[in-house]
Amino acid sequence: MASASASGCSHRSVQFECSRHAAQSGFKRPNMRERVAATKLENDNLMPSPALLKGNPETFPGPLVLPGDEIAEDPEYPPQSLQEWFDEEDRNSVTPSRRTVYVVPPPQISDGVDFLEPWSRPKGYRQEDRVEPPLTQEVHEYLSAFYHGLPVKLMPRSTLCLVRWDSGGASAKSTSKAKSQRPKFVGLQVSQESVRIRIRASRDDVFDGQLNLNDLLDAVIGMLPKDAYALLFLVNHDMYEDENDDFACGRAYGGSRVAVVSSARYNPNLDELESVERLHAWPASHCKSYISAFCNAADEDSTAKKTSKPQTKTKQNKGKVGSSTSRVSPMEAAISIHRTLPMENLTGTSLSALWLGRVCRTASHELGHCFGIDHCMYYACSMQGTASVGEDASQPPYLCPVDLAKVLHATSTTAIGRYNALLAFCEKPHSKNEHMFAPFAAWIRGRIVELEE
Ligand SMILES: [Zn+2]
Ligand SMILES: [Zn+2]
Repeated sequence: MASASASGCSHRSVQFECSRHAAQSGFKRPNMRERVAATKLENDNLMPSPALLKGNPETFPGPLVLPGDEIAEDPEYPPQSLQEWFDEEDRNSVTPSRRTVYVVPPPQISDGVDFLEPWSRPKGYRQEDRVEPPLTQEVHEYLSAFYHGLPVKLMPRSTLCLVRWDSGGASAKSTSKAKSQRPKFVGLQVSQESVRIRIRASRDDVFDGQLNLNDLLDAVIGMLPKDAYALLFLVNHDMYEDENDDFACGRAYGGSRVAVVSSARYNPNLDELESVERLHAWPASHCKSYISAFCNAADEDSTAKKTSKPQTKTKQNKGKVGSSTSRVSPMEAAISIHRTLPMENLTGTSLSALWLGRVCRTASHELGHCFGIDHCMYYACSMQGTASVGEDASQPPYLCPVDLAKVLHATSTTAIGRYNALLAFCEKPHSKNEHMFAPFAAWIRGRIVELEE
């Protein structure tokens, strides 16, 4: 993908439709009529404004569906309309006595398990590369804006603690031999109780070790406060789900209203290793030349493998270049801002902000699952599924019209109120030059104009 990531790309034309790989992979995107229908409830007396229903392509482009992306791998995954979401039996409703979203900071590490401390940093990490990890308070603030209308509360730093796991005394005796062996478990201290967490060596050797995400989620289900609608648990450590995976960045048990997000793999120091695009991260992921270079590279790969593949001319996507109105569209405004940001030799502060943006996006996504929202198949959207850390970076922080309708329904707030809260976060001094928040602010400003017309 070297050609696609060459620096100096000016993202001259924006692609608003899916990539041509979408059709090749068998993905049939719901058409505009279906998308509008998916944004409505059947017996709704308060009909939302057309601007809320219709996702203008220049504000809400189609999902990219690049080779290897989640939708390309699973093109027939069923979309979830607003009505389907509304009718979902397993969905938990927000009620007056159960409407608070809790954010739990990463657990503290007790003396007995201080070997866990360096596990949150990539192997071979050098002090001069240090990037400040995202602050829980910042993630909390972002989520308060994203789920505007509901109280979002931050739990104290001392809420959780990783401790030694002593399985009933038998293995508790630490002979010098046992000491040198890596334990299989640690304990997560939740109030008075300690819950067993499986740990293992990182399969891909990027970190020294990982925590099991299912155990982390099981542990926090028990601590849901009475007034909690949902709870998000942040961890600094790398996580794994089962024996067959290398790592996982986030997961939600939607029905149980708990989610966990690990910041470990979003560390900008790993970008090269994980093939994370900075130049063509969202919103520049919608750059036409980038998309076509990405698809060409994949085509060349597969023609090299299947020598007999005929060179059929693939249909060109009619992605409009420029806006049909004289006004700059929200996507173009976002891309213009992105283009002005420095891409090389980023300082510690901007790397830190880059990291924060990624964690905020995933945190809002996983919490979305707690609200019963499934992966989005309608638009490029923060509720789209992702197959890699690289795909994460190419997806937007905003909700598409269908998923926005779900969130507004759950939070009982207005679109404008919510956009203004997000805008206030994105316009804070430290977010201003950030690669996701700065373009997101431009996008929101354009979107507010569109809604007010
Ligand atoms: Zn998801
Ligand atoms: Zn969506």
